[in-house]
Amino acid sequence: MGNPKAFLNIPRQEAGYRPVLERVEDYSEVEQTLNTSDRRKQASRCMDCGIPFCHWACPVGNKQPEWQELLYEGRWKEAYHVLSLTCDFPEFTGRICPAPCEKSCVLKLSADSPVTIRENEASIAEAAFREGYVNVKIPVRNGKTVAVIGSGPAGLVVANQLNRKGYTVTVFEKDELPGGLLRFGIPNFKLSKNIVQRRIDLMTAEGVIFKTNTMVGKEILAREVVDNFDAVCVAIGAEVPRDLPVEGRNLKGVHFAMEFLGQQNRMLEGIPVPPKNQISAKGKRVLVIGGGDTGSDCVGTSNRHGAKSILQIEIMPKPPVGHNPETPWPMYPQVLKTSSSHEEGCERRWNLATCRFIGERNVLKAVEVEEVEWIKPAVGGRPEMKMTGKKEVIEVDLVFLAMGFVHPEQEGLIKELELATDARKNIAVDKQLRTANNKIFACGDAITGASLVVRAMASGHKAADAIDAFLKEKKNK
Ligand SMILES: Cc1cc2nc3c(=O)[nH]c(=O)nc-3n(C[C@H](O)[C@H](O)[C@H](O)COP(=O)(O)OP(=O)(O)OC[C@H]3O[C@@H](n4cnc5c(N)ncnc54)[C@H](O)[C@@H]3O)c2cc1C
Ligand code: SF4
Repeated sequence: MGNPKAFLNIPRQEAGYRPVLERVEDYSEVEQTLNTSDRRKQASRCMDCGIPFCHWACPVGNKQPEWQELLYEGRWKEAYHVLSLTCDFPEFTGRICPAPCEKSCVLKLSADSPVTIRENEASIAEAAFREGYVNVKIPVRNGKTVAVIGSGPAGLVVANQLNRKGYTVTVFEKDELPGGLLRFGIPNFKLSKNIVQRRIDLMTAEGVIFKTNTMVGKEILAREVVDNFDAVCVAIGAEVPRDLPVEGRNLKGVHFAMEFLGQQNRMLEGIPVPPKNQISAKGKRVLVIGGGDTGSDCVGTSNRHGAKSILQIEIMPKPPVGHNPETPWPMYPQVLKTSSSHEEGCERRWNLATCRFIGERNVLKAVEVEEVEWIKPAVGGRPEMKMTGKKEVIEVDLVFLAMGFVHPEQEGLIKELELATDARKNIAVDKQLRTANNKIFACGDAITGASLVVRAMASGHKAADAIDAFLKEKKNK
């Protein structure tokens, strides 16, 4: 604890976002940065708690108090070193993690002004790249090979960890470029793609082999991968979006959120999208169905297209503002989130179920919604939804379905690899993230269902450790 009184005298200072009128004109990152002196002051606020709840809450187990102190002292290189011991890609989490650490920070409880842990993390990562503390390290090879299927954050961590341990790692990716949802899901205004590419370039220089446009089960047989590698890790994400099978679902103008977001990120990468497939929100009345992060990303993207109006609806009730007694500290608070995209302009409504899409000559014109109520049961259990009969027709031109994801996409691949799936159709694994086939492991959203980048990274780390242990054990037999 560098400055024992800082938490009393120095207020939390966030770098904030670029002005709305400026940022909606481009797709560059919206978040700003503090100068190094102010950043170090922010780090000085950390109290080095005896029980650091920030560390407890962090899925990758970051040692926040240690690197806050190093940052306060201006020891950036050491701060990066300590941070990178637990977090493979702090430049990603520093930008887009919802920061459970901050929600559990003791200063959140006592003064509702936690240490700016996430922003401090991003600053350390950027300083490390800028100052040349992140160097290419070529490992000594151990003669063993590992295949990773899928290059999202989970697969990238598996590849990074095992490559550094000397395994020769090949990552198979069906998309045009590596990165998974970091590349083709999360909008550029939250995470710039040169940040993703910088890490891919580093991993490539260190020896990881990326085979893009290569879908396992299509361009290469799954059996071939299993036969030719000492171990395989399946990190294929949870790509099947939850659908809304109501009347009019097939009308022109109703799309899954990922059709829109994936296409926007591709176009910004210079990947051609045939004009007939391009979805434009320019001048349109947009309705986003689903109140979560993916929906919020559709709002931000629609604003950048120049939508006429944007309404985001959610079937669940509006969460409490600020504090929710049902999720007390140090739990992650279930409270109303207002993202940078919401600030850019959109109406939000809750307790609305979608009854049908209304069209003319096969083109979407309106949506019929009905108000719902959520009734709490007398004794415990989940609230029950009750239709109220209060219906309303909303005129819209474009709908994005952002209601979550259900399970990994490729039943073919899962069958070919003879993997079992659990009740929700995620890939079933044991505690070591091993599938029923003892040389095939799985991690990330493919086993948990749609989650967070930091959780996918934690899962990738665990899978890498398990694969390492498995291959070492095999060698010793
Ligand atoms: C729009 C959107 C915004 C989000 N925003 C955030 C955020 O701000 N913060 C946050 O923490 N989380 C966010 N998330 C969630 C986060 O992106 C995911 O939880 C995380 O990316 C999951 O990582 P993963 O590696 O398991 O899967 P993915 O990132 O989905 O990667 C899986 C990869 O596997 C590839 N693949 C699949 N099948 C095959 C095959 N047969 N052969 C070869 N390759 C294959 C896919 O093409 C993909 O590249 C967001 C998600 C979405 C959809
Ligand atoms: S809980 Fe907050 S104040 Fe305490 S060690 Fe963690 S970051 Fe520092």
